[in-house]
Amino acid sequence: MAVPDGYIELIPTLPKKGYLLQELAKDVYFFSNGVYNNLFIVTSEGVILTDPIRGTGPLLKKAMAEVTTFPIKVMIYTHPHLDHIGDASLFAEGVKIIAHKETQKLLQRYKDPARPVPQITFGEKSAIELGGVRVELIYPGDGHGKGNIMVYLPQKKILMFVDVATPKSVPFKNFSTVDIYGQIVGLKRALQLDFETYVAGHLYRPGKRSEMEEVLKYYLASKRANAEAMRRVNIREVMQKSQSKDIERKMGEYYEAVAEECYRLLKPEWKPRLMGFEAFARGHCDTWTAFHRTHKDP
Ligand SMILES: [Zn+2]
Repeated sequence: MAVPDGYIELIPTLPKKGYLLQELAKDVYFFSNGVYNNLFIVTSEGVILTDPIRGTGPLLKKAMAEVTTFPIKVMIYTHPHLDHIGDASLFAEGVKIIAHKETQKLLQRYKDPARPVPQITFGEKSAIELGGVRVELIYPGDGHGKGNIMVYLPQKKILMFVDVATPKSVPFKNFSTVDIYGQIVGLKRALQLDFETYVAGHLYRPGKRSEMEEVLKYYLASKRANAEAMRRVNIREVMQKSQSKDIERKMGEYYEAVAEECYRLLKPEWKPRLMGFEAFARGHCDTWTAFHRTHKDP
């Protein structure tokens, strides 16, 4: 590993029981296996559970048993991805499952017994009231996949928005998105809500509002750096210099040259600030090159 790491936050040693459990607000619990996380809420009328992470179902059951004997009444899927809801079937019996209608559509198509199809769906907005707790479900549009919703607890000022802005980290490879612009719109929409703490689906701890703002800043900085790199790197020059006669390969070399320049522009500020920079920054630049060649900002 010749290139040194940038910012790092080490995962703390997990307790013997194998998970971290933290009460974020009264009766609102954050569960993490160190890398993935989710939320459950205990109310006088039963438990509201979100995203049973693949492979952690038995631990999640233990964690819930630490704080309540009440049954689960409602299960929310933030989105259909296997890694986040792959243990849903362990919790589904007699439970109402709610998710976005696009999530339902995808799960109907996958026919995966590990991820039971939600019985209740919605389009733009929905809300659950259970035992005096209000949970708002908001769909900001496609971003990290279709059907990726926010779970908002207005009384507790807590937000859950998964796979979009892991605290102190650049976004995942190539932004892990079906619509990069939509993903930014989603983050801006999230930041209009009144919350102090958010659950990102990843990391051993929840995030602070300022940490979501920081990641959004990175999204915008990488977009700007890419636009600047595209101005600096001349496509004809790159193609003339190329050793290849394969036009597709020449095009690939242009993308690589732009990504390298964009990475160089971002590095001084962002490598010391966010984890994952060395692994993913060039890929972010690449995603923006594709966007800028085919889109204009709406
Ligand atoms: Zn995901």
